[in-house]
Amino acid sequence: MDINFECVMCGKCCHDLKLPLSVDEAVIWLERGGDVQFLCEAVPWPEEPAEDNLLAQHKRRRSFAASSGELPARIVVVIAAAFEGACPHLQSNLSCGVYEERPTVCRIYPAEVNPFIELNPQQKACPPEAWSADKPLLMRAHRIVDEQTAALIDKSRLADATDTGTKALACKHLGIDTAALANEGLAIYSPPREQSIAALKSAREAGDRNDFVPEWKVASNRRETVETLTSIGALGVFTTTQNAGAFQYLGFFTESA
Ligand code: SF4
Ligand code: SF4
Repeated sequence: MDINFECVMCGKCCHDLKLPLSVDEAVIWLERGGDVQFLCEAVPWPEEPAEDNLLAQHKRRRSFAASSGELPARIVVVIAAAFEGACPHLQSNLSCGVYEERPTVCRIYPAEVNPFIELNPQQKACPPEAWSADKPLLMRAHRIVDEQTAALIDKSRLADATDTGTKALACKHLGIDTAALANEGLAIYSPPREQSIAALKSAREAGDRNDFVPEWKVASNRRETVETLTSIGALGVFTTTQNAGAFQYLGFFTESA
């Protein structure tokens, strides 16, 4: 199926977002006065997956190695520009105030960065006229054919892969050490702006290091999950969505009583 698309500048996609940023984009966003969150999830990683396990290899590329007690794990950290309502850069005429320097993900939308998620126009904010048949071709036979968008997706995936060591070190500097068990929720840290800038810059200057294996705790809002984690030697932590500690817990399931 062909998907045609051209942005009609309606501004709908620029609201209520957690906008994934590369490390360099996060520093720029923070220095412009924006806020970022660190969204953390832990994937138990008892053994390396087969080369042809494409989903596991995708997770591996965008994560760093860690241990949680006796459990080997991989930690995915997404640094996201977070805002409720309109993006701080959205102008009253619905144009982007930082258009020439807007984050890569803003340039890619509505296409998907994750190769395992199919673009579904009905799940996007763009109005019907943006998808009409007279617009340029974006996708054909499940592949992005617009060269500029395809190149931006490659760039975003590359940053995801090459930023992992920097994120590991920045988390260490910031005392971020607990991730939600993957597919159950997210542990969300919101460090003060200046601390985030300092941690990201310092980690960036140290280079993209993958030569240390940090210790992380794994949080869940389900007691049975925590018990299972603990039984296999992991540092499981029970949390609630009302967690008033260092991070917020966004659970995908109802929490245990
Ligand atoms: S940076 Fe610009 S394009 Fe991106 S969400 Fe904000 S206003 Fe929209
Ligand atoms: S919602 Fe779609 S059409 Fe509207 S500004 Fe965003 S990308 Fe463009």
